[in-house]
Amino acid sequence: MSERGFYMAGDLVSVLTADPLDRRLDYKAPEGGVFAGAFVMVPLGPRRVLGVVWGDGEGDYDASKIRTIGQVIDVPPMRGEMVEFLRKAAEYTLTPLSMMLRLATRAPKLGQPASMRKVLRLGTGAPDKMTDARRKVLAVMEECGGAGFSAAELVALAGVSSSVLKGLLKQGVLVEHAAPRDLPYPKLEVKLAGKTLSPDQAKAAETLREAVRSQTYSTTLLKGVTGSGKTEVYLEAVAEVLKRGRQALVLLPEIALTVEFLDRVEKRFGYRPAEWHSGASQAERRRCWKAVAEGGAQLVVGARSALFLPFRELGLIVVDEEHDGSYKQEEGVLYHARDMAVLRASLCSAVVVLASATPSLESWANAEAGKYARIDLHERFGTAELPDMHSIDMRAEAMEVNRWLSPTLVGEMKTRLEAGEQSLLFLNRRGFAPLTLCRACGEQVGCSNCDARMVEHRFLKRLVCHQCGASRPIPTVCPSCEVEGKLVAIGPGVERLAEEASELFPDARVAILSSDLSETARALKQRIDEIAAGGADIIIGTQIVAKGHNFPHLTLVGVIDADLGLQGGDLRAAEKSFQLIRQVAGRAGRAEKLGVALLQTHQPDHPVIKAILSGEEEGFWKAEAESRLRAGAPPYGRMAGIVVSGENEAKVFDLARYLARNAKAISDLDAQLFGPAAAPVAKIRGRFRVRLLVKAPKGAPMQKAIRVWLAAVKVPPSMSVRVDIDPQSFF
Ligand code: ADP
Ligand code: ZN
Repeated sequence: MSERGFYMAGDLVSVLTADPLDRRLDYKAPEGGVFAGAFVMVPLGPRRVLGVVWGDGEGDYDASKIRTIGQVIDVPPMRGEMVEFLRKAAEYTLTPLSMMLRLATRAPKLGQPASMRKVLRLGTGAPDKMTDARRKVLAVMEECGGAGFSAAELVALAGVSSSVLKGLLKQGVLVEHAAPRDLPYPKLEVKLAGKTLSPDQAKAAETLREAVRSQTYSTTLLKGVTGSGKTEVYLEAVAEVLKRGRQALVLLPEIALTVEFLDRVEKRFGYRPAEWHSGASQAERRRCWKAVAEGGAQLVVGARSALFLPFRELGLIVVDEEHDGSYKQEEGVLYHARDMAVLRASLCSAVVVLASATPSLESWANAEAGKYARIDLHERFGTAELPDMHSIDMRAEAMEVNRWLSPTLVGEMKTRLEAGEQSLLFLNRRGFAPLTLCRACGEQVGCSNCDARMVEHRFLKRLVCHQCGASRPIPTVCPSCEVEGKLVAIGPGVERLAEEASELFPDARVAILSSDLSETARALKQRIDEIAAGGADIIIGTQIVAKGHNFPHLTLVGVIDADLGLQGGDLRAAEKSFQLIRQVAGRAGRAEKLGVALLQTHQPDHPVIKAILSGEEEGFWKAEAESRLRAGAPPYGRMAGIVVSGENEAKVFDLARYLARNAKAISDLDAQLFGPAAAPVAKIRGRFRVRLLVKAPKGAPMQKAIRVWLAAVKVPPSMSVRVDIDPQSFF
C-alpha cells in the first residue's frame, strides 16, 4: 500500500476488517474517493463493520455484488509504518492480520462523530449594566475563555449563580456554541528545567538525548538499582523528543504506577500527558487515540496496548520495569510488549529505552551481544543505600504449627515497631490459604471448571479459583465425603499472614496490599500513598509491592518464602525469583535510613538465594546465560508453545498426537518437538488442555515452519490450537 495512494469514486479497493475472518474484501470507493489507509465503515452482510482501506481491490469477486464503502471516518489514514508494524507483528506471533487490526482500532466509537457539548463564548453584545457578578464572569472569559466553558464550569470558575449567565446570554454578551467533547491536550512545557542530575545521571541523560537527536533506531538498556533515578534520566530523553516535535510513549507494567507517573510528568512538564489503559474511561481513550493520530498528544503513558496507537511521529518508547511479566499478553493476541516496542521503533526510526533494576535475561544478553546499548546507574540517588540482605535458615528456627513468621524475623519487626519504622512482609500468594483440605477424606477442594485448587479469601468469605475467577461460599461440609467440620485451611496467603502479625503485635496497624483488594487503579494508588505516608506499621503484600512504589519509612523487608519461586520446572524460575526478590528488597531503606532485607529459606545454599544475597548480579546473569546456552533455551534458542484445547479430553489428545506425528515441517527445521502432554493446568473453564513444545535453533525460521505444519491440519470447530511464540509461562 502506498502511503498516499488515492482511489477515485467507484475504484475497486481491498478493505481489511477487524472481524475474525482472515481475508480482505473488495469494495467500491465512495463518492469523493478515499485514501489508502483510510479508516472506513463497510457493509458486511447485515452489519456495518470498521475496516481499513488496504490497497487495490483483488477483483476476484462477482463485480455485480460488490458494495460501496459506507463511510470514511474523519481521522488520519493509517500510516505505512503502522501497516508494516501490524504485518510484521502478525507474522511474528502467527496471528491473523485482522486480529492485529483489532488492536489498532481499539478506540471506542471511532465511526461516530465526536459528541458535542454546549459551551459559552464571548459574543458581540454589550451588557445593559455592569454588576460585580457580571464583571467576574467577563474577567474569567477574558483570561482564558478562548475555547469556551460549559455553563457549569463558568458558574464554578466565576463563583456566580447561573441566573447571571442567563442574563448575559439574553443580551448576546455570551453566546452558545457547540464544541467537540474531545478536548485537545494542553501543550507540555518542555522548557521547564528538570532536577539537577548527579554526574552519573547527567551522563546517562546526555547519552539518551544524543540517541534521540540522531533520529535513527536504537535500543538502550538503562539498568540501575531502584531509586537510582532511571525515571529522572529517561524523562530528559522525553523532553528532547518533545522539543523536536516528535511524540513519546512510556509503557508501565501496572495501572497503579500510572497515577504516580502522571503526577511526576505534571511536575516536570506542567501538565498531565495522555493516558491509555483499561482503567481510562471510553471517552478518555477515544480522545487519546484521536489526539495521538493528529499529533496533539505529545506524550502517552500507557499499558502495553498503547503500542498500537496511531502515532504520527513517534520518536521514543520507554519500557519501564522491562523485565515485568505482565508485558507478555497471555490472552487474545499473544505478544510481548517489549519485543513489539523494539519492532515498532525500528520501523519509525525511534529510540527505545528499556529501564530496569533487574533486566530480563533476554535484554541482558542483547546488550552483551552489542545489539542494545547499555547504561548503568550504580548508585541510589542521595544518601539512600541498598539494604543489607541476609537469609534466615528456616531449618534452624523454632517454628510452631501454622505459623510462618520466624522468631528471628519477629524480633526484627519488634525493633522496627519500637523505632516507629515500617516493616514489609512479602508473600506472593493472594487470599487466606492456598489450599482447603478435608481431614476426613483427604479431598482438596478444587474448582469444578478447572484443574486448580480453590483459594480461600477470608475477606470475601469465599473460595475463589485463580484460573477462572469462579467463587463459592466457604463450605462447612466436605463437598466429597460430606463430613462436617473437618475442612482446614492449609498454608499461608497474605490474609493469613496479616492475621498472624496482628496476633503477635495487637497494637500495630497492619495493611494488606494485594491486587484483588482494590477496585480501581486510583483507589489502589491512594491506599499505597496512605501506607507510604505512614498509615501502617506492618505492610503485607503480594508482588504488587515489588513494582516501583516508594515507602520512605520502610526499613525492614521480610521475604516469607524465598523458595516459593524456585520450585517447579519453569525455565525462568531462577530468573524470576532473582528479579522479584531483589525488587522487593529494594523497597527498604529508600530515604535516609538504612534498610535490611531478610529471606526466610530452607535452602540458604541454593545458588539463586546466594546470588540474591550477594548482589553479584553480573555473576548471576552469566551463570544463568551459560546454563540456558547449554540447554539451547531462550534467548539462545527459540521456543513455541502449542496448546490444543477442547471439551472432549480424548479428542484433544488425539488431535495433539496427530499433530506430533505429522510434524515434518518441524523436523526439517532441525527443531525438536516435545509432547503432547497434559498442560500443568490441565483444564480451564471446562476445556481440557494439552501442550506441545517446539524448540528450534536460534536463527531458524520457526514461525514459517509452524505455519506450514499447522496449515496442513484441519481443526474441528469444537477444538482450538493456539500458538505462543516465545512463551513466558507454561501453564
Ligand atoms: P528509579 O526510577 O531508578 O527507581 P527515580 O527516578 O524514581 O528512580 O528516583 C528515585 C527518587 O529519587 C525519586 O523520588 C526522584 O525524584 C529522586 N531523584 C532521583 N534523582 C534525583 C535528582 N537528580 N535530584 C533530585 N531528586 C532525584
Ligand atoms: Zn476455575
